Amino acid sequence: MADGLAAVFARLIAATGPISIAHFMAESNAYYYAARDPLGAAGDFVTAPEISQMFGELVGVWLADIWQRAGRPEGACFVELGPGRGTLARDALRAARRGGLCPEVHFVETSPALKALQEAAHPDAHWHNDLSSLPADRPLLIVANEFLDALPVRQLVRMGDGWRERMVGVDAEGTLIPVAGARPMDMAVPARFTDAAEGAIIETSPAAVTVVQEVSRRLAEQGGAALFIDYGYVEPQLGSTLQAVRAHRKADVFAQPGEADLSALVDFATLAAIAEQAGAQWLGTSEQGPWLAALGIGARAGSLARAAPHAAEAIEEATIRLTAPAEMGALFKVMGLAAPGWPDGAGLHRVT
Ligand code: SAH
Repeated sequence: MADGLAAVFARLIAATGPISIAHFMAESNAYYYAARDPLGAAGDFVTAPEISQMFGELVGVWLADIWQRAGRPEGACFVELGPGRGTLARDALRAARRGGLCPEVHFVETSPALKALQEAAHPDAHWHNDLSSLPADRPLLIVANEFLDALPVRQLVRMGDGWRERMVGVDAEGTLIPVAGARPMDMAVPARFTDAAEGAIIETSPAAVTVVQEVSRRLAEQGGAALFIDYGYVEPQLGSTLQAVRAHRKADVFAQPGEADLSALVDFATLAAIAEQAGAQWLGTSEQGPWLAALGIGARAGSLARAAPHAAEAIEEATIRLTAPAEMGALFKVMGLAAPGWPDGAGLHRVT
């Protein structure tokens, strides 16, 4: 018999019918993040800022550089969405200060457990549950690393008789399983996918679209720039990318809701189009490896290694992990956005 959140879902579904994948993912991740620090060797997964201080430093260098070339507007705020342990912000703000940028710090975070860690590292920061309460009268310098991938996705599945929403139901034993919803969803499917093969899945993230829309609208109105860094794809594709990770291993998506991290690849092409529609400039979307190289990770690794020769090997390993195509260098993408009239982003190129 299932326990914890799985049992709650099983009772809900038995009483009222299947729930959407988006509902399942949103509730599972809210539960998952609320009470734990999932990051690091003892947790479930490791993120780029936890691999090396160089990652956050280069984010800080990027933000300070675009702010300087925009004419050093006064009052600009540093904003991080889903700051985890606060590590990226610590390294980014140290590097930004060297560039003359000393911003007020704002964090968007829903997890009480992670907020407590962020408070210890950044006692002067301001916290928000969502973007709506961020300052509205100043430029914003925004970063989000592995944030969009945690937001719920909606899935449509092609059945023999047309498109349905992909949902979560229960089998006779009370085990959670994917099922097709009862309502026809053909109207929600773009024309080019109408005749896709049976079993095809269309995945979208209305929540990620909403975040990028709100960020872009604010950049257009207030000035500023944003970096979204995540694993994702640049060409639109079909198929489910929803995955569960627990203790650094892939797990069954439906088996342990609330106990494993659920994430999905980010659809960067759609988000760039959304950003432009909302009035922001899309500065380009680059692979993480070339972007870090363009910002000087090689030189930074060299100077850190000279200052701490005993750590030279670890610094070299971290550089490879962050940049090599077979590691995080190609799967992870960096998307830059800015207010109209702001300059280009270092290391980013628009490819149309
Ligand atoms: N950026 C950090 C942490 C990534 S994990 C790093 O790179 O190490 C995802 C982060 O997003 C966590 O801080 C999590 O609590 C937060 N998060 C997830 N869903 C959220 C939501 N809907 N609103 C705000 N924060 C959220």
